[in-house]
Amino acid sequence: MEFQIVPVPAEKLKAKIADQSQLGFGKYFTDRMLVVEWKGGQGWVDARIEPYAPFSLDPASLVFHYAQEIFEGLKAYKWVDGRIALFRPEMNARRFNQSGDRVCLPPIPEELFLKGIEELVSLEREWVPTAEGTSLYIRPAMIAVEPVLGVKPSDHCYFFVIMSPVGAYYAAGFNPVNIMVEDHYVRAVPGGTGEAKTGGNYASSLKAGLEAKKKGYDQVLWLDGRERRFIEEVGAMNMFFAYGSHIVTAPLNGSILSGVTRDSVLKLAPILGYTVEERQIDVNDLMSDIRSGKVTEAFGSGTAAVITPVGKLCYRDEVLQLTGGQVGTVTQKLYDTLTGIQTGKLPDQFGWIRFVA
Ligand SMILES: *Cc1c(COP(=O)(O)O)cnc(C)c1O
Repeated sequence: MEFQIVPVPAEKLKAKIADQSQLGFGKYFTDRMLVVEWKGGQGWVDARIEPYAPFSLDPASLVFHYAQEIFEGLKAYKWVDGRIALFRPEMNARRFNQSGDRVCLPPIPEELFLKGIEELVSLEREWVPTAEGTSLYIRPAMIAVEPVLGVKPSDHCYFFVIMSPVGAYYAAGFNPVNIMVEDHYVRAVPGGTGEAKTGGNYASSLKAGLEAKKKGYDQVLWLDGRERRFIEEVGAMNMFFAYGSHIVTAPLNGSILSGVTRDSVLKLAPILGYTVEERQIDVNDLMSDIRSGKVTEAFGSGTAAVITPVGKLCYRDEVLQLTGGQVGTVTQKLYDTLTGIQTGKLPDQFGWIRFVA
């Protein structure tokens, strides 16, 4: 499929963000976006890269009422030799279609997903920031735009991609975040949509997040929806716990998101001399293992958050500090290795990098 390139008028080109330490996360957007439409009976049509601009949508569009929506998140990095690297984008393409299947959005050919992103990034290459810890965050999404109030899968959808130059996801940067275990609200249940990257999961998480924030915590750690007993994940991160050099994470049980970063940590850890295990983690056992000092570090993993150390963990009335509030060695090593591969400072021994032409 060819992409129609709609030029951006010179006077509409935005100024780049001069001070890259002020980027934050998802505050600025590049000059262009990719849009491809899907119509029942026709398939994918009208692929275009056009000036970044608001959509004009019918207020009856299905996405506004029944949340038929999915999204992805990946990053482009500018290497010192000037090349632009994407990290495992095929995983995002595959997961996008898995998410879409769950909410009855049409599958998009992986080639279209990948080529579209590459072409957009290539046109916007000047927007990829270069300062340490920065990148160009890429946000593909699909929405249902058929204007009808009956509950049904939409027969008109938009696939679109927008991009934002970003710094650290958390204001604290690479510093420990404090996390509260949520034992009232749940994020996902067996058979629900927890495994899909769909907007509704986030809408239903906001209230717990707000209440945690009021108590001074940055994020909520979700427990399983059936017994509220087993560790699932944090808002946009999978969770890991280090018992010395043994690293444990929850298994992909259908209600947690299958993170690309999670998978990368599981593959990198053994070559760094750590052992990994995917197993159910009972929150009561976890708390007692932290209390007794068996758990030495905890960290989250996600594209946006990369590897984020956990400082304090609160469950019911108990607050425990991990690693003395410092960044642990396992966490630091995984962060350095992962970001080293992403930015070309370390060899890409798994073939994870895909360059943008
Ligand atoms: C996106 C996301 C993650 C992290 O996945 P990555 O592929 O590593 O970015 C974890 N949990 C949830 C709920 C997510 O939406």
